[in-house]
Amino acid sequence: MRAHWLQQGAQRHHALLCYGKQGIGKLAFAKAMSAMLLCLQPQDGQACGQCESCHWLSEGGHPDFKEITPEDAEADDSKKKTRKRQQITIDQIRALHDYLSLSNHRVGGMRVVLIHPLEAMNIAASNALLKLLEEPPQRTQFLLVSHQRQALLPTILSRCMQVEMPVPSEAQGLHWLQSQGVAQPEWVWHYSGGAPIGILADADGENALVDWHGWYQQWRTLLGSGAAMDTVAAGSVLLKQGMEQAIQVLQKWLLDLWLSREQCALRYHPGDEAQLRKLAAQLDMSRLLAFQQQLNRFKMTATHPLNQELQLEQLLMQYKKLFQ
Ligand SMILES: [Zn+2]
Repeated sequence: MRAHWLQQGAQRHHALLCYGKQGIGKLAFAKAMSAMLLCLQPQDGQACGQCESCHWLSEGGHPDFKEITPEDAEADDSKKKTRKRQQITIDQIRALHDYLSLSNHRVGGMRVVLIHPLEAMNIAASNALLKLLEEPPQRTQFLLVSHQRQALLPTILSRCMQVEMPVPSEAQGLHWLQSQGVAQPEWVWHYSGGAPIGILADADGENALVDWHGWYQQWRTLLGSGAAMDTVAAGSVLLKQGMEQAIQVLQKWLLDLWLSREQCALRYHPGDEAQLRKLAAQLDMSRLLAFQQQLNRFKMTATHPLNQELQLEQLLMQYKKLFQ
């Protein structure tokens, strides 16, 4: 698709929206596309990786490339560095307007604006972006990435060429993970629910991924002890990757417990099937459903840093009560 899209040249739509499930490589695709559009000598729909433009881009200082994410806003806000920004703001889109009112650095070259995830824009930012999409500047390509297309304004959607990114098959996914030198491709594949990009980004490199796998082995041993679990030990292990991850771990584990009870194939922990089936036999189903709902509610406030150890310990006490 990429090569075909490049060949379209002047016919190409000025705004491309890549949407689909999170963690399947949409952003990597959009970044490769950006590099290709800016490259001085692209070959077969790929950036050369050698030219001045490719070097600028890899060093993060390309004058004709603008990337907008919620995290960028955080960098400007020195007082609130610890809090992760959830939104792309109107100020960021205003700054983009200013940037686009200047001419391209390379005369006759393309300029690329990459915005992700697009659903992070608040309503004011969306309207400001809409103006840009309605009257696009010359020789400017917008690349937009979204995990939740249904959350976008219809007026924005109508201004884009929309491409749904396919979910890779298990064989494709495992092959790709192996090609990336990942030591536990099966584990990463299953634990990420078939969308491994996010887990690799969270782990940030192969050594960190080994740590992640070690972390997984620690908590699944603790959670696997069911009613006999040490909640203090489990809490401190789970919190190592932050509260959001701790909640996610519990949610994935509970789903597989439930699937075990229903005699279904496991989704995230097929390697722990024997242990999960043993636990599932002691499970109080009505408590499990109530606990799942409680976790969903809790997830909304999981970024709040107050009393995390205490909160998690309370949740883990509930977890133990599932098995009586
Ligand atoms: Zn190049």
